Amino acid sequence: MEETLKILVVDDDEVDRMAVRRALVKAGVRMEMSEVGDGNTALSVLSNTSFDCAFIDYRLPDQDGLNLIETIRSLNIKIPLVVLTSQGDEQIAVELMKAGATDYLSKFRISSETLAQVLRNAIRLYRAEMQTAIAYQQLRESHEQLVRKNQELERQRQQIQIQNLRLLEASRLKSQFLATMSHELRTPMNAIIGFSQILLRPKFGNLTGQQADMVERILNNGKHLLMLLNEVLDFSKLEEGRLELKPELFDLTKVINAVVMEMRSLAEAKKLSLLVQIDLQNPLLVNDPVRIKQILINLLSNAIKFTDSGSIWINVKDLPGSWIEITVKDTGIGIASKDFKYIFEAFRQVDQSITRKYPGTGLGLAIINSLVQMMSGKIFLESELGVGSIFTITLPRQLPLSNSSLSSSSVQDAREMIQPDHKVHHPKAKSNPNARKYHNLKL
Ligand code: ADP
Repeated sequence: MEETLKILVVDDDEVDRMAVRRALVKAGVRMEMSEVGDGNTALSVLSNTSFDCAFIDYRLPDQDGLNLIETIRSLNIKIPLVVLTSQGDEQIAVELMKAGATDYLSKFRISSETLAQVLRNAIRLYRAEMQTAIAYQQLRESHEQLVRKNQELERQRQQIQIQNLRLLEASRLKSQFLATMSHELRTPMNAIIGFSQILLRPKFGNLTGQQADMVERILNNGKHLLMLLNEVLDFSKLEEGRLELKPELFDLTKVINAVVMEMRSLAEAKKLSLLVQIDLQNPLLVNDPVRIKQILINLLSNAIKFTDSGSIWINVKDLPGSWIEITVKDTGIGIASKDFKYIFEAFRQVDQSITRKYPGTGLGLAIINSLVQMMSGKIFLESELGVGSIFTITLPRQLPLSNSSLSSSSVQDAREMIQPDHKVHHPKAKSNPNARKYHNLKL
């Protein structure tokens, strides 16, 4: 041992103390040795000075070694304690160790080797114990810290849960409010539209040119407002999961032609050509024609709204595996790819400023997205700023049964008309090869 050790010898017998000193010196232990003759003095010395080790005679004049060790440990004095026993004391060795002795040695076995060996072992053992205790303490502290952090996290989780519940409730109230308001507003709006239509009928009486112009404006604005109200009502129903598809067998070509006829005047007013191409082997679908029409009107009115010159195309074609694809393409302002994921969110518009050029609620694409999902279809977008946009929708020819309110026999009849080979196409089947074409743009 290179370091100088501070050693205390507690023994009333001076000869024994000397024997210890000699043995350690002979063993080459570098040390500063202090000596005391009784337990009480040992206690006061140990309380004020720190030592590397103490040798304690078991038989002291004021108390026995066991008492002294218990007191030292109860005062939390940290030091290796080696008890020097006399003949006949060996049997109390176990109690000494239990009380906190680090080791014991019979005085009759004291030699320079044994004493130095016991000293080294006691110090090594004690230091190892101290290190373990420190590590254990650190472990306990970090465990406590973890427990505290966990408690804090749990508290935060509960707070977030409460906030979530509040948000859900607020959102539910908002949807309810939207539904009630749009429903309530629709009634007077229908009256405004109805009465303006009556006013415009010749049999009601002749209006002056200016009067007819004003009534027509009331009618057109009323229709526009009704459309906005319907969007809000649909959106709130979709949010609450109250919107149901009403599937029936219908001719898609007829629906597309009707929509195109409705929208053509809007396109012509902006001098845009509206081109339609329908390549369907079988135009019959089992789906909700009203909602398909709504999807088409929304896509076309967006295409017209966001295109200042050029053309709008609507293409419909068969896809393998009883799927169809509807594409609406325009040469409009286009959409930056960074906005792709936002525009399908409710109330989101690329331009959200008050002074924006293009009017709208920002609900159209959110509604389309939900409807297409309900139909187990997919929607894809390709667009380039200043060049134009392509919205592509793929739909199964037949709605999955869970979405269908048709009786089972009429479903069977319809299936036979649209799928003569009776193969039922799973709505989520990955066999639609065109889906892969736009895979990166999938929303
Ligand atoms: P709205 O048309 O009422 O604003 P939508 O949900 O239909 O709401 O569309 C959201 C946004 O997506 C639009 O405000 C517009 O910024 C963008 N968008 C939709 N369709 C087109 C299109 N064909 N060309 C360019 N931008 C479009």
